[in-house]
Amino acid sequence: MQKIADFSEFVKLSPAAPVQATRHGWRAKCLQRLIRLDLPVPTTVALPVETVRAIAAGQMPDTGRIAAVFGSDFLVSVRSSPENPEWGGPGTVLNVGMNDAMHARLSDSHGREAADALYLRFVQSYATHVARLDPDMFHAGPGEGALAAALSAYHAETDEPFPQDPARQLAEVLRSMARAWEGTTARLLRQAKGAPPDAVLGLLVQRMALGIGPGISGSGTMQFVDSVTGAPRIMGRFRGQSQGRAISDDTLFLTRDPRGLSLEELAPEIFAVLCGYGSACRARLREEMQLEFAIEGGRISVIDTVRVARSARATVKIAVALAEDGIITREDALLRVEPRALTELLHYQVDPRAPRDRFARGIAASPGAAVGRIVFTAAAAQASAARGEPCILVRRETGPEDIRGMHAAVAVLTERGGMTSHAAVIARGLGLPCIVGCTEVHINSRDRSLRGPDGRTFLEGELITVDGSNGEVLAGTAEMLEPALDDGFRTLLRWAETVCDIGIRANADTPDDARTARMFDADGIGLCRTEHMFFDEDRLTVMREMIFADTPNDRRVALDRLLPMQRADFIALFDIMAGLPVCIRLFDPPLHEFLPHDREGMRELAEALDRPLSEVTRRVEALSEFNPMLGMRGVRLGVTVPEIYDMQARAIFEATVEASRRGAPVVPEVMIPLVSAAREVEIVKTRIDAVASAVRTEMKADFAYRLGVMVETPRAALRAGEIAQHTHFLSFGTNDLTQMTYGLSRDDAGRFMSTYVNQHVYAEDPFHILDVEGVGELLLMGASRGRAARHDVTISVCGEHGGNPESIAFCRAAGFDYVSCSPFRVPVARLAGAHFAL
Ligand code: PEP
Ligand code: MG
Repeated sequence: MQKIADFSEFVKLSPAAPVQATRHGWRAKCLQRLIRLDLPVPTTVALPVETVRAIAAGQMPDTGRIAAVFGSDFLVSVRSSPENPEWGGPGTVLNVGMNDAMHARLSDSHGREAADALYLRFVQSYATHVARLDPDMFHAGPGEGALAAALSAYHAETDEPFPQDPARQLAEVLRSMARAWEGTTARLLRQAKGAPPDAVLGLLVQRMALGIGPGISGSGTMQFVDSVTGAPRIMGRFRGQSQGRAISDDTLFLTRDPRGLSLEELAPEIFAVLCGYGSACRARLREEMQLEFAIEGGRISVIDTVRVARSARATVKIAVALAEDGIITREDALLRVEPRALTELLHYQVDPRAPRDRFARGIAASPGAAVGRIVFTAAAAQASAARGEPCILVRRETGPEDIRGMHAAVAVLTERGGMTSHAAVIARGLGLPCIVGCTEVHINSRDRSLRGPDGRTFLEGELITVDGSNGEVLAGTAEMLEPALDDGFRTLLRWAETVCDIGIRANADTPDDARTARMFDADGIGLCRTEHMFFDEDRLTVMREMIFADTPNDRRVALDRLLPMQRADFIALFDIMAGLPVCIRLFDPPLHEFLPHDREGMRELAEALDRPLSEVTRRVEALSEFNPMLGMRGVRLGVTVPEIYDMQARAIFEATVEASRRGAPVVPEVMIPLVSAAREVEIVKTRIDAVASAVRTEMKADFAYRLGVMVETPRAALRAGEIAQHTHFLSFGTNDLTQMTYGLSRDDAGRFMSTYVNQHVYAEDPFHILDVEGVGELLLMGASRGRAARHDVTISVCGEHGGNPESIAFCRAAGFDYVSCSPFRVPVARLAGAHFAL
C-alpha cells in the first residue's frame, strides 16, 4: 500500500496565510505579496517543501482536498516555487482538470475551437511531461482532428484512455514535477547556479486565468524598464486569445508601435491599470518586476511576477534608481550589484542580443570587446593606427618591444600566456580587451595568417572581434554596446567609497593611466612600473646606449639624458594625482628586455650606436640569461649598476620639489623591487638618502619621502621583520610571489592552466585568484612579521590580485591598508571592498 502524503499542511494564499519563502518557495511568497497589494491574483494553493519531497519519494498525493478549494470548475495550473528563483524548477503545466466534460462546457461558453485548443495543449503537456511519451507524437498544432488524434495516440501508447478525473490528473502532474526536481540534470543545473545539494521545491496550484473568450482576452507580459539599458520603458507583449507567456509572431506590442495596434490603443484603461500594478510592485516588492497577466473579457488577472532579467548596466541603473526613489537603501543598492559586473560597464561589449560567429577561444585576460583588422607586428599596429584603422595585435606572446604596438591596437590576442603574462598585465592597464593563451589558433607569421580550430584562416588586414570578457575570438564584426560610465555608475561608485574600508589604489605607469585612476577615484597610485616609460622611440635608444656603456662615465652620460625625461614623467604623474600618494617602483626588468631580438633590430642598433654589428651581437648575447626572471633584475641591478637607481631617485625628488612648488605637496613613495635580503635594502637606501640630501641642497627645498620594499620573493616574506626596519611600507607583488611560491612561470602557465584547473589540481588559476592557502600564508606571515618589527608599516598588495574580489576579501580580513590594481579594475575593487564592509 502506498502511503498517502499529508496534505493538511497546504495553504491557500491570502494576505494573512502563514507563507514562508523557505517553506513554500519564493514564488508563493511573491504571489502573497501581490495579494497583499490587492492585485487580482487567481486563487492559489501552496504545497510546502516537505510535502513535495514526500511526493517525490513515492507517496501518493491525495489531491481531493486541494481540488475542493477550487470547487466544481476545476481548471488549474501547477507552478514550481523553489526557494531561490535563480535555481530554476520544472516548467509550468497549464489547464490541469481539462477533460471531456470541461471541454463540452467550454465549447458552449467559449466556442469549440478555443475548447479544442486548451484540451489539446493539456493532452500534449500531460503526455510528454507526465506520461513521458515521445513528444514527436504530440507536437501537432491545433486544427481539425488534432485533439482526437492526440487523445487516441495517448490511448494507444498507454493502453488506457486519457485520464478524466481532475484529482488524478493533478496528482500525476504534482508527482512528475516533484520528481523532475530530484532528477540528476536538474540537480546539476541548479548546483551550477549556486543551489545547495539539498535545495527544496514548493509547488503552487493556481486557478487558470483562461485568456480566451469574448471581448478583450489574452495573455502577456509587461515590464517597466529596459532589460539592456535599465532605462524606464514599458516593454512586453500581449497576445489575444492565448495563454502562457506570449511569444509569437502575431503578438501585439504593449505600447504604441508602428508595426501595428498596441494594447495601449486597443484598451487604454486596461493598460493604465497594468501600469498601476507595475508601480505598486516596484514600490512594495522593492524591485523591478515583470508581470505575467491574463485578460478574460476585460478582467485582468496577475498570474505571476518575476524579477526583470537584466544586463550589468541595467542592474546598476535599476539599483541606483530604486535607492534614489527611496525604495531601497543605498547599502541595498550596493549589495545588489555584483562587483565583477561593473567591468562590463567600463568597456565596449559585444551586444548580448547579437549573433556571434565564434572562431576560437582562449583565456579572457582583459575585459571588453573590440573589432579591428588583424596585424601581426607592433610596427604594423602603429602603421594601422596612423592610417586611422583600428587593428588587433595578434602575437604568439608579447614583450616590452610590443608595448607601442599594444598602445596602437584596439585589442590584443596571443597564442601563449596566462593571466599575468606580459600581454595580460599591460592590456588590463591600458583597458584594452585581451585574450591570451589562445592555443586553439595557429599563427603563421611568414604568410601572415591566423588559422582557427575549424580550419578557417584569416589574413592580415581581415576583420575579427576580440571579446576579452569571455575569451572568444569572433569572425568579422560583431555588434557592440557602448561603455556606460553614466550617472548611475558614478553615483554607485560614490556610495561605495563612503562604505569601503580598505584603500583602493591604481597601478598606473603613464599620465593616461593616472587620469583613468583619478576618473575612477582611486586613492592614489600603488605601483608605477617605471620601465614602461623607457619604450618610447627616443628613450629606447638612449636606454640602449646606457646598457652598452663601457664605463660608469659613459653610463652617466646616457643616464643624464634620461633624467629630464623621467623627471617630466614624474611631474606629470604628481600633477595629475594632485597630492594623492604616488608609489614609484624603481627599475625592475632584466636589461636584455631592452635589446633587439632579431638581426634586423641588431643592425638598427649598431647603426644608432655607431658600432660594428658583430660587437652589438656579442654584447646582446653576453647580456642574455638562462632564466632572466630569476636573474639580473630588480634590486640586483640596483646593487650592481647603482647609477640607474640614482638617476631615478634624482628624477623623483626633483619632480617632487617642482610639483610641490606649484601644486599640492608631494610625498613620493619609492619602492624597491625583487628584494630577497635586508642588506639589499640597506645598500639602496643609503644611496637614495644621499640623492635626497643632494637634491634638497641643490634645489634649496625640503621634502619628505617614503621608502618601501616590494615583497615578491618568498624570502622577502619570511624576512619581512628584518626588512621592515628599513622601510615605511611593504607591498606584496603577488604576481612574482605566486610565480616563485609555486615555481610556476607566469608567462608559460597558460599552456596547462586549464588542464590543471579542470582536473582540480588547482582550485583556480593562482595568478588570477590569490592562493590563500599557500601564497596567502606568506602574505599573512610577512605582514605580521613586518608589523611586529615596525607597527606603523603600511601593508598592501600591488599584484594583479589587487583587483580580484576574493583576494580583496582576504587582504581586508588580514588588515591590509590598501590594494592596488589596474585603473580599470578600481571600480570593481571599490565595490567589492564596500560589499565586504557592509
Ligand atoms: C608583481 O610581481 O606582483 C608585480 C606587481 O610586479 P610585476 O607584475 O611588474 O612583476
Ligand atoms: Mg614583480
